[in-house]
Amino acid sequence: MTFVLQIGERSLEPKRVFCIGRNYEDHIKELGGAGLNKNDKPGTPVLFMKPASCLHPLGEPIARPPYGDVLHHEVELVLIIGKGGSRIKAAQAREHIAGITIGIDLTLRDVQSQLKEKGLPWERAKAFDHSAPVGEVVVLTDEIDLSNLQIRCAVNGAIRQDDNTTSMIFTPEVLVSSISDAWKLLPGDVIFTGTPAGVGPLEVGDEITIDCPAIGSFSWEIIGPQI
Ligand code: ZN
Repeated sequence: MTFVLQIGERSLEPKRVFCIGRNYEDHIKELGGAGLNKNDKPGTPVLFMKPASCLHPLGEPIARPPYGDVLHHEVELVLIIGKGGSRIKAAQAREHIAGITIGIDLTLRDVQSQLKEKGLPWERAKAFDHSAPVGEVVVLTDEIDLSNLQIRCAVNGAIRQDDNTTSMIFTPEVLVSSISDAWKLLPGDVIFTGTPAGVGPLEVGDEITIDCPAIGSFSWEIIGPQI
């Protein structure tokens, strides 16, 4: 099955999903302890990847993995690259972003903590099938200030996460620039920009809703394992 992102008139097929960790101080603090120094503000963006097959569309329930106990939501601003390039300067980064949306970086927190303690890679905790649900993409216009977007996450109607991209340690433009130092960015690349504080557990049967006034409101139901 091919996942296609619709950005205005343009259709792009994502091949890679870049994800940023530890980009909001309050979230670093709330995770303090589990292998993380809570005062550990990164000097360069913390980066990991999910296969593009993790992207999960609207309109389909999210099947949790058959392992792990604590499935956490992480609402994030998501950038879609429209124009490729390498060594992009932050001042030019906006020209490379075709659209934005919000998404959820689903994380099996208990599995992640165990892997981190052993110094092992955390793909089983973060890069499983359906781990990257995304909403509809809006075209990035001049009216949108990437560093002033309110992003929220509610579970069964109760707000869990509510913060603004103004709280990011590294701005979206700096993230694009930093990633393009290591990878030549391609049209369709997806960038999850990190989550604010308030991450928490999801149970089978829960309804999760994420919203950003400038982008939209998107909901999914969590269902049991389908793998
Ligand atoms: Zn995340």
